[in-house]
Amino acid sequence: MITENLHRIKEQLPATTRLVAVSKYRPIEELQEAYDAGQRIFAESRPAELEVKAKALPEDIEWHFIGHLQTNKLKMVLPYARLIQSVDSGHLLQAIEKYAADRETRVDILIEVHIAQEESKQGFTVEETENLFAQDLASTYPHIRIRGLMGMASNTDDRERIDKDFSKIEELFDRIRSEHPDYSDFDQLSIGMSNDWGTALKHKATIVRIGSAIFN
Ligand SMILES: *Cc1c(COP(=O)(O)O)cnc(C)c1O
Repeated sequence: MITENLHRIKEQLPATTRLVAVSKYRPIEELQEAYDAGQRIFAESRPAELEVKAKALPEDIEWHFIGHLQTNKLKMVLPYARLIQSVDSGHLLQAIEKYAADRETRVDILIEVHIAQEESKQGFTVEETENLFAQDLASTYPHIRIRGLMGMASNTDDRERIDKDFSKIEELFDRIRSEHPDYSDFDQLSIGMSNDWGTALKHKATIVRIGSAIFN
């Protein structure tokens, strides 16, 4: 099933959109099956789980982190994750900067933007994101490369509402790109999950994060 699911989804994705297989809570054997079917990008949401799976599975997997990340867990995540998609506060940005500076390395991240019309979802608001980009990021965070934005739409079947949520982050993404042509690395928009990735493609998703539609 996993192999078939992956092929069916991949067939429908444009070449410019990358598929991230969200493998949180799934056993190693299922990730191995997806790997054998050709999948190379996986995302986890818990630090300890990422560490165990990254050590057990082939080294050419590109791991992303998509969960809430506490600053005291950075050392479990940053050695393995190529992209932290879920940076949701200035406090976390500062902690990642310090971690990377201490190790003379550079960390790729996405800014998580709160776009859902729900209280519970975390992330920067649109306004906070704009304020962030109004700073001189290259001097404040010289060891962080902000590659783009990540967002989660409202958890609903209402297509119009999902469309609105995605429009909000797409417009923000376009605005930052046009106002900061110097941020040449800022080119990733991570939107779309199992239930709404079709809609996300209409809003220029460059990354879709799909879990249950692959593993269930
Ligand atoms: C779990 C999760 C997903 C995948 O959700 P599915 O509905 O299973 O596709 C995507 N993004 C984030 C941030 C998640 O936590």
